[in-house]
Amino acid sequence: MRPRIGVLALQGDFAEHIQMLDMIGIDSIEVRKVQQLSEIDGLIIPGGESTTIVKLLHMFDFVDDLKSHVESGMALWGTCAGMIVIARELADPYPTPLNLIDIGVARNYFGRQVDSFEAELKIKGIEGDPMRAVFIRAPIVQDTGDDIETLATVPATGDHPEQAVAVKSGRVLATSFHPELTQDTRLHSLFVKLAEDARIDENRTNAKRRLTEETASKV
Ligand code: GLN
Repeated sequence: MRPRIGVLALQGDFAEHIQMLDMIGIDSIEVRKVQQLSEIDGLIIPGGESTTIVKLLHMFDFVDDLKSHVESGMALWGTCAGMIVIARELADPYPTPLNLIDIGVARNYFGRQVDSFEAELKIKGIEGDPMRAVFIRAPIVQDTGDDIETLATVPATGDHPEQAVAVKSGRVLATSFHPELTQDTRLHSLFVKLAEDARIDENRTNAKRRLTEETASKV
């Protein structure tokens, strides 16, 4: 059964993710209302401006329900600003992240000189050639909890040690870079697999039914 994927469409480059999913034959929905979380098996939070995204998530009353859906097994993928939004904590004073994956993150890590750059990354779980990864004012993962699997790192350069830029915990994925700005759909396919697992997970179906009833009663 095909999983249903949503892309958070409050701010940022959600259209590019939708296009990538299109390329692999997956229809997705633009998520703008919290009730839509009940219709999907996986949510992508795109790149953009993390402070704005967090503000809008609060404004539109997403925060508690998003947490409950992720706890009950929905798949989640934060790219760039999305990674910042879902982190446990930040090295920066703002925004306050949502704590949906056990990682500490530093925003704009690579500083002004290398605002944007590209690198070839070998990513665990992705077969074949390394992926071309586009970093734009990118964050990095500074520390990881026990159940975090590091999927990719960028090698040490000059002042910077080797740093994690793709991590996974259960069905939650976080990447510092922008796979949606390339033609390489392999990470999107990996995420679709996580959402497929969520779709067929019986425990999640029960938890979701409860959640949907609770959300509906709020309206
Ligand atoms: N630097 C941005 C932030 O802190 C993220 C940049 C991006 O998503 N490309 O939100």
